[in-house]
Amino acid sequence: MMHCASCREPFHGSPLICAACGAVQSSGVEAPDYFQVFGLERRLGVDVAALEREFHRLSRRLHPDRFARATAEEQQNSLRATALLNDAWRVLRDPVERVEYLLKIEGHAVGEEHAGKARSAERQPPADLLEEVFELNMQLEEIRMSRKMGETADASVLAELRTAGERFEAMLDELDQALTAESTKWDAGKGQARAGAAARMIELLDRRRYLWNLVREVREALGAAA
Ligand SMILES: [Zn+2]
Repeated sequence: MMHCASCREPFHGSPLICAACGAVQSSGVEAPDYFQVFGLERRLGVDVAALEREFHRLSRRLHPDRFARATAEEQQNSLRATALLNDAWRVLRDPVERVEYLLKIEGHAVGEEHAGKARSAERQPPADLLEEVFELNMQLEEIRMSRKMGETADASVLAELRTAGERFEAMLDELDQALTAESTKWDAGKGQARAGAAARMIELLDRRRYLWNLVREVREALGAAA
């Protein structure tokens, strides 16, 4: 349980501003994690509408106008708390960033950190996508070449690329559904079950990063060719 550094009352909600005495969290106190910022337990299932209401409520309470006559230290504290609140809102509102963040504070290596450990694996397409990625790269190369030569890209290549892009976008959607399913398991599980869900989410995030890069390349190529 976190306590207010000014009045020592335990916090029941956000520790950014004390409901009992109105003190804004000072710099001497260990920063709460993003879930604690909103007075939430560490769970992946988040009611985003409720989160947004709490974000606006806390933003108003921390607004600089309210600290116009406060000490310089209190003003600094309110600015720091606002910055933390904004960061926490940006990450927790997004289901994918929320998963990455939670895994990170739970001590897992995710994202760049995880990719760094398996750099060669990261650049290799997932085994089941090898063929499709190979073809996609050929199509992208053809389109780049014709652009370089100042020619319009071949219509059939563009059509193939569009179809491939749709397939990869559909895979992204499927993947996000799988991520939601694992999130639910993580919230409900303990010990081994939770560790298993975390491991699968880390894999899904790696695959997601790979797919997202492909989708972005396709969108760029189609956008430039349009
Ligand atoms: Zn207090």
